[in-house]
Formats: sequence, structure tokens, C-alpha cells
Amino acid sequence: MTIERRLREDVIATALAMNAAGINRGKSGNVSVRLHDAAIDGFLITPTGVPYLQTTPEQIVAMTLSGEARGSLLPSSEWRFHRDIYAARADAQAIVHTHAPFATTLACLHRGIPAFHYMVAVAGGKDIRCAPYATFGTQELSDHAVAALAERRACLLANHGMIAIGTSLAQALALAVEVETLAEMYWRALQISEPVALPDAEMDTVLAKFATYGQQKVDPKS
Ligand SMILES: [Zn+2]
Repeated sequence: MTIERRLREDVIATALAMNAAGINRGKSGNVSVRLHDAAIDGFLITPTGVPYLQTTPEQIVAMTLSGEARGSLLPSSEWRFHRDIYAARADAQAIVHTHAPFATTLACLHRGIPAFHYMVAVAGGKDIRCAPYATFGTQELSDHAVAALAERRACLLANHGMIAIGTSLAQALALAVEVETLAEMYWRALQISEPVALPDAEMDTVLAKFATYGQQKVDPKS
């Protein structure tokens, strides 16, 4: 089996796992993975409009970083932010985009996730930002997403959902699950009051520890 064929299967498996984990419903989210190939410098992405259970490896769309699609189906309507994240971020090898209920609830309030819990650092910084709203599929949304992801591996999208990036599909999915878990805990705390924020200096300590341990060790699945 070629590497590309295996990656196509992994994209479908990740999309199915995203729904099974409860961080996405129906076919609203999308998944991509960077493709290093002699023939294409780009990525593989879920097609638009096909339920994940019915998606075949052949239907996964290959795209170049200049935005040309290769395949029988159209790519996800959100291919622009996938393309722009790969172009901007050498560390991005895979991207998971979901309309996870709790993350999206906060995003609809235009609220990011502050340092209310030390695990916020799993996304790479002292908070998880919420990108301003723009119409789905637009260059404007993509620009907002890339900016909100600066020095981060995840962000929320106002009135829309969230994005998680990783060095592999498994890592991007695990981060998306973690972000949704944090969003749920933050939302629950907000029912009582605004939770106590960790001091900046403490988040510096946590970020330093995460850097030392490496992301694998803070991955809840490892
Ligand atoms: Zn979306």
C-alpha cells in the first residue's frame, strides 16, 4: 500500500473518530493531512457533501498549496484555511476542524478559552483564541484563523467551531478532543462564576514543563 493510500484511509478514520468522540456531528467538520509526494506539494482533504461513513479513499481530494484540486469530488468548502495553515506553518502536518458543541458555544459568544486550567497550555500558549467571524469558506475566515493560530496549535472560530493542528492526524484529533474538554469545563465553571485565572508566571512554568516533556507526554491518549 502506498503512503498516499494509507493517508487517505487515515483521513477517513480520523473523520469517523471525530464524530465517534462526540466532538462533531454529521458532516459539518473536515480533516486534512499534509502530503509529501514527488507529484504534489500539498495535502489530502475530505470532500464536500459526502457522509464520512460513505466516503471511500478514492474520494479524498488531493490539493496543491496553490489551491488546485485533483479528484472526482470537490474538496471541503473550508479548503482555504487548510491550505493557508499548511503554507504558513511548517509544524502543521494534519488539521482537524469541528463544530464541537462546547467549543462552538463559547465561539458563538466570541469567547476564547483563558488560562482557567493549566491544560490550556496544550494548545501552545496561555489561552486559546477565538478568531473573529467571517463567512465559511472565505479567504477572510482563513486569514482570521491563521492569525488566531499564531504560536498556538488550536483556535476557536466565532459563530462557527474550532481548528486543531498536529504533527499527525492522531495528534490533531487528540488536541481537538482536549480543546472540547477544556471548553466544556470552562462553560461549566461559567455557570457558577468566571473561574479563577492562573497567573501568567504559572502558565510560563506550565508551558516550560510541556516543552520539556514534549506534546506526546501531555497527550491524554498516551
Ligand atoms: Zn466549519
